[in-house]
Amino acid sequence: MVKIIKYILAIMVPASLIGGGIFIAVMAKNIQVQKPVLNIQNAEKATDIAPVAIIGSGPAAYSAALYAARAHNSPVVITGNKIGGALTETSYIENFPGRSKVLGTQLMSDMQEQAASFGAKFLQDTIDKVDFSVWPYVLHTEGGKTIHALSVIIATGSTPRRLGLDSEQKYWGKSKGVSTCATCDAPYHEGNNVVVIGGGDSAMEEASQLAKFAKKVTLVVRKDHLKASAIMQDRLQEYPNIEVCYNSEVRDIKGNDTDVTHVELYNNKTDETTSLEVQGVFLAIGHTPNTELFKNFIEIDEQGYITMDGRTQKTSLPGVFAAGDVEDHDYKQAVVAAGRGSIAALDSERFLRDVGFSTAMAEQLKTRFFDGFKDETLKISLIKTIGEFDDMAKDTGKALCIDFYAPYCPSCMGMLPAVESVAYQYSNQANFVKVDLTQSSELAKKLNISKVPCFIVMKEGQEVGRQDSAMSKKELYDFVGKFVEYSKV
Ligand code: NDP
Repeated sequence: MVKIIKYILAIMVPASLIGGGIFIAVMAKNIQVQKPVLNIQNAEKATDIAPVAIIGSGPAAYSAALYAARAHNSPVVITGNKIGGALTETSYIENFPGRSKVLGTQLMSDMQEQAASFGAKFLQDTIDKVDFSVWPYVLHTEGGKTIHALSVIIATGSTPRRLGLDSEQKYWGKSKGVSTCATCDAPYHEGNNVVVIGGGDSAMEEASQLAKFAKKVTLVVRKDHLKASAIMQDRLQEYPNIEVCYNSEVRDIKGNDTDVTHVELYNNKTDETTSLEVQGVFLAIGHTPNTELFKNFIEIDEQGYITMDGRTQKTSLPGVFAAGDVEDHDYKQAVVAAGRGSIAALDSERFLRDVGFSTAMAEQLKTRFFDGFKDETLKISLIKTIGEFDDMAKDTGKALCIDFYAPYCPSCMGMLPAVESVAYQYSNQANFVKVDLTQSSELAKKLNISKVPCFIVMKEGQEVGRQDSAMSKKELYDFVGKFVEYSKV
């Protein structure tokens, strides 16, 4: 449950400039929140400095990076696990002004490139802890790096909501049948029956994606009408194999312990429960903002969104800004997030100027700017045939790690850089190879791979570990570590 910090009053010592710094203390309802002293001399002593640290890699983050970079504020973007954010899991975007029809992945890589061309730097890592009680603000990454940020823009987006059923957890993952990403998993449902739960734009999009592969898609909507926009509703007409079940709720997901086999469908109008045979369950029931990391430092509302100060992108803490789905209750559009990101960067620019961060100071601090971008990686080779696999699987005293992926799978492509980084870290204990599922059906069959990403660890020619869902760098590191710590090398 997200803790809500309610401020009764405001500023005990008004934002007064004291010796080049701003001191603000705030009383919250039950706790006293002491905001840090914003003394530019602290920045002069710090190392690994980022004038603007941007957390996230969706449209809000990239747009903020573009604006901050053009203002010569040397932004560092910490991209998180899913580089490019939620848009990399949709198909075509048709409502981003100036782009008539563009793949989500393409739009995000273009935005990143544009920001990079003005000097924005990107760190492929995830922030796992922050300390906003001291300034410069401290950000810790999963990869063990620390950044001292003069200003922070939070653009961490939101996470797809779940129903909360035990059975949903039991059958979670594409190999079992419950998913939130039709773009990733629709090809695995060729000829299947599936349900999509939800009546919003995401549900329309998921249903249309699935209808290209599945025999039948049942859209389960709890009300007697759809919430989706008219244009997205119209799209359903293109697919005769989509049926909409109104006033309906999935009350349970049933299976044979390995795969989903059917769902229990409750009709809230007739009070009847029926059983529907399906092999896939897709959730499209909205999102929860990703604010957990920040809840002890900034004001978060009852629904978990970061509270904004009027029409600015300021949070309750000076120098910390937020943009995009993490603060947007209503609109949640790529173009809106991009606009908010640009405002956050403009707000941060004003903040930096107010605390005394000047061009001259930037020049003076330059040698102590954060520079930990070099993530050591090992290029891993692609194998295609059973012969190549047999050669690699011979007992060399090292474990063999095989990453099965497919170019059409966003979570696979997002995981590849992590695999290369972990391959470097374990280069003494394990050999790593990758296999493109679309080019190596025989090998996939031999190793019983039907879904990607699928990561296998082998020792002495035997499979000892398998994970068939996407992993972060840390998860991958820990997963491989379970099998290689007893390696012979
Ligand atoms: P929404 O909040 O718009 O819709 C969520 C849907 O899920 C609603 O129909 C809601 O029902 C239903 N729902 C919520 N909780 C449950 C539950 N526990 N059980 C069953 N049903 C439930 O979320 P979306 O992700 O669809 O969209 C978010 C935003 O992103 C929107 O602004 C949308 O316009 C935008 N978007 C735009 C796209 C595009 O333009 N291409 C594509 C995808 C999203 P109820 O109506 O009863 O609350």
